[in-house]
Amino acid sequence: MENIAKKSNTEFILNTFNLKPSKKYGQNFLVDPGIIQSIADHASLDKETAVIEIGPGIGALTEQLSNKAGKVLCFEIDERLKEVLSFSLEGHDNVEIIFQDFMKADLEEACNKLKDYKDICVVTNLPYYITSKIITKIVSSSTPINRLVAMVQKEVALKLCSEEKSPLKMMIDYVGDVQYELNVPRHVFMPAPHVDSAVISIHKERVISQELIDLIEASYTAKRKTLYNNLKSLYHDQTKEVLESCGIPANKRAEELNIDDYIRILERSHTL
Ligand code: SAM
Repeated sequence: MENIAKKSNTEFILNTFNLKPSKKYGQNFLVDPGIIQSIADHASLDKETAVIEIGPGIGALTEQLSNKAGKVLCFEIDERLKEVLSFSLEGHDNVEIIFQDFMKADLEEACNKLKDYKDICVVTNLPYYITSKIITKIVSSSTPINRLVAMVQKEVALKLCSEEKSPLKMMIDYVGDVQYELNVPRHVFMPAPHVDSAVISIHKERVISQELIDLIEASYTAKRKTLYNNLKSLYHDQTKEVLESCGIPANKRAEELNIDDYIRILERSHTL
C-alpha cells in the first residue's frame, strides 16, 4: 500500500485486520505523512545506508525508510502485526522484520547482517513505556551504529537536551551529542496519546566501555546517597582515596559530576 500514514489508509488497515492498538505495547500510530517524511529526512538516508527500526507498527515510517535506505531491519514485539505488515509493505523487498522484543535482540548480530552498508543508523517512533531502556541499549552498544533518530515523549526530549544529569545523559555526553529536532503534537497519532512528542537525534562518535558504564550506573544507584556511599560497591576501602586523588569531595552526589569527572575517577582507579 502507498502512503500508509494517510489517515484514511491507516483506518482502512485497522478496520480490515480488526486491529485494536495495544496500550501495553505503546501503539500510537503516526497518521501524518509530513511528519514521517521529516523524521526520515533527519536521518539523512541513502541507498548505502542501513536502518534498524524498532516497532514498525503497521509500517507507516518503514515505508518511507524503505524508499530512501538500502535496507531496513525492523524489530516488532507484536506478532498480530505479521499479517498486517506483509499486506501494507508488500513489494518493499529491502525490509526484513524480526518479531522479537528489541530488548532481547542481539544488536551485534543485527549489525552483522548489515555489514555491507556504508553506515547503520536507528530510526524509530519509540514506545514510551521503554524509551530510556532502548536508547541506553543503543548508546552503550559497541556496534557500528553511528546515529539514532527517535520520536520520544516531549518531556524526555527536553530533559535529554538540557543540562540535567542522568546516567543516560552522561553516556550520551561521552559517545557524542544529542539534538532536539522537531516538535510533534499529539493529534498526529492514532489513537492520540495524552502527551506531546518530539524528535531527537543522537550522534555517536565513539564507543563507551563497560567499565565506564558500570561506574556511572553505580554512582546513581541510590539517588539520595553520596558518591562515596554509592561507589563503595566498586572501590571498597579505597573509595575515599580515589575520590580525594581526583579532587572530588566524598560528599558530592552523582548529578553534581560531569562526564570528565567520571573519566578521571576511572583513570585513577586503574592506578590503585
Ligand atoms: N512505527 C509506527 C508508527 O510510527 O506509526 C508505530 C510506532 S508505536 C509508537 C510503537 C511500536 O513499537 C508498536 O508497533 C509496538 O508494538 C512496538 N513495540 C513496543 N515495544 C516493543 C519492544 N520491546 N520491541 C519491539 N517493538 C516494540
